[in-house]
Amino acid sequence: MKIARYEGRLTALVDGGGINVAEATGGRFGTDALDALEHWDELTEAVAAVRGPVRPIDPARLGAPVPLPRQVFGIGLNYRDHAAESGLTELPPSPTVFTKFPVCVTGPEATVALPSAGVDYEAELVVVIGRRAEHVAEHDAWDHVAGLMVGQDLSERAVQLAGPVPQFSLGKSFPGFGPTGPAIVSPDEFADPDALQLGCSVGEEVLQAGTTKDLIFPVPELVARLSRVCPLLPGDLVFTGTPAGVGLSHTPPRFLRPGETLTTFVESAGTIHTTFTAGAGFDDAATEE
Ligand code: ZN
Repeated sequence: MKIARYEGRLTALVDGGGINVAEATGGRFGTDALDALEHWDELTEAVAAVRGPVRPIDPARLGAPVPLPRQVFGIGLNYRDHAAESGLTELPPSPTVFTKFPVCVTGPEATVALPSAGVDYEAELVVVIGRRAEHVAEHDAWDHVAGLMVGQDLSERAVQLAGPVPQFSLGKSFPGFGPTGPAIVSPDEFADPDALQLGCSVGEEVLQAGTTKDLIFPVPELVARLSRVCPLLPGDLVFTGTPAGVGLSHTPPRFLRPGETLTTFVESAGTIHTTFTAGAGFDDAATEE
């Protein structure tokens, strides 16, 4: 099952277009993603039984499948190659966890104003929690996942790296810094949800290419570890980390520029596009230093 948000309404994506979930469920589920995720089994059954009508989809009108989650977790340095390019000489013994404040979440075809010339890209697999998870064992973890999405963990590196310790949460929470979508794709749609190609590009320039097989802490371990501290709630998002190739690892850094469109994909989960403009604080001169 693939549940998207189309023109503000929950929509099941199928071959040839979308099925309005409210129509398909007699109004039981309409626009409220958290309500739908709280009753995910019921929604899954109802949507599986429906045959139409299937309407064409204009991707530009897709919004964030979960527009205002209650908790958004981010995992830092979770791919071996990215940890290495970031200067780690040994694999971390536990995940580096931060929050992306939920107001940064946006949709799969968003336009984002760059607050500075120091905004970086991070292609990521995003987990959507479907069932309250508290002290969940790894072997039960996938049962608590509603689905997977494509995500970008956009990161303003100057804010992130100012001060004596990194400010991951602030630097990664400007408006629009959490593009997600195009749909919540349920785990059964993937041949192997623990081995997915992912990456991003601007035009012909491939910026990142990796596989979730290289996650230091895979999805089940992340769900288990996080749920030992914070109960995970339906609709919560986990940005699982990014493979090598982020802009900061280049010399000079390769940051995002106004006018660029970033294309991000995760195998079998889809593709999202993020277009950038110069925000109020963007200093063009800084790009040329
Ligand atoms: Zn990240």
